[in-house]
Amino acid sequence: MARVAVVSGGTRGIGAAISKALKAAGYSVAANYAGNDAVAAAFKQETGIPVYKWDVSNYKQCAEGLKQVESEVGPVEVLVNNAGITRDTAFHKMTPEQWYEVINTNLNSLFNMTRPVIDGMRARGFGRVINISSINGQKGQFGQTNYSASKAGDIGFTKALAQENAAKGITVNVICPGYIATEMVKAVPEEVLKKSILPHIPVGRLGEPEEIARCVVFLASDDAGFITGSTLSANGGQYLA
Ligand code: NDP
Repeated sequence: MARVAVVSGGTRGIGAAISKALKAAGYSVAANYAGNDAVAAAFKQETGIPVYKWDVSNYKQCAEGLKQVESEVGPVEVLVNNAGITRDTAFHKMTPEQWYEVINTNLNSLFNMTRPVIDGMRARGFGRVINISSINGQKGQFGQTNYSASKAGDIGFTKALAQENAAKGITVNVICPGYIATEMVKAVPEEVLKKSILPHIPVGRLGEPEEIARCVVFLASDDAGFITGSTLSANGGQYLA
């Protein structure tokens, strides 16, 4: 029987690459998304991966959505907490809405998505939780107090949960991507990219979503059973944690 994997924000960008790579590796994948129905429908059409719409910042929606996935696809064995947003601005201009929206979507979502599936993983004696943080959670970034705080929180969550569940066959790891060529980064003007971003990346290019997806596939595998609580930097050498 194929293992079941859920990818939050799994219909676009890095999440879509993760969903496709897990499917190619033999998993039964369910991809969650927030509201972009057209993109989700096109993704489903292209990949055959079922899509589920709910807001990861809402605990009740996560619990109900995951219950639906478990009844339609099967018990969740691999959870990839990938959904994330930015609401960038200097802290002295930041509104409470910009702060809470980012913390709720990028950090509280890890509680909302993981709590409903952890009991099942513990009872079955197997689980993989893979969180997608960011280089900016490791080093901080101007204009991103909200984002950097949320992503640093993802790393702390990973380390604590890993300790609690290691004896139950569950590994919990976090990946910190650097600049990845998704719609968000492709929208940056060529000039800015060449002058201000690429010179700081020693390998001299942006990362590809598939490069993050391959990290996820490895961490999900049986081969990675001795790796837990670890932070995997995939940033082209931009920041050495
Ligand atoms: P995208 O903006 O391309 O895609 C985000 C995905 O998350 C979409 O599927 C979106 O759904 C979903 N999503 C957003 N908010 C919610 C929500 N509240 N509930 C459910 N789903 C939600 O993001 P990226 O692929 O660029 O980023 C993916 C992850 O990687 C994020 O956590 C990001 O912080 C992190 N990251 C990205 C980097 C980059 O360079 N791109 C660098 C470092 C980290 P919908 O389509 O419906 O909006």
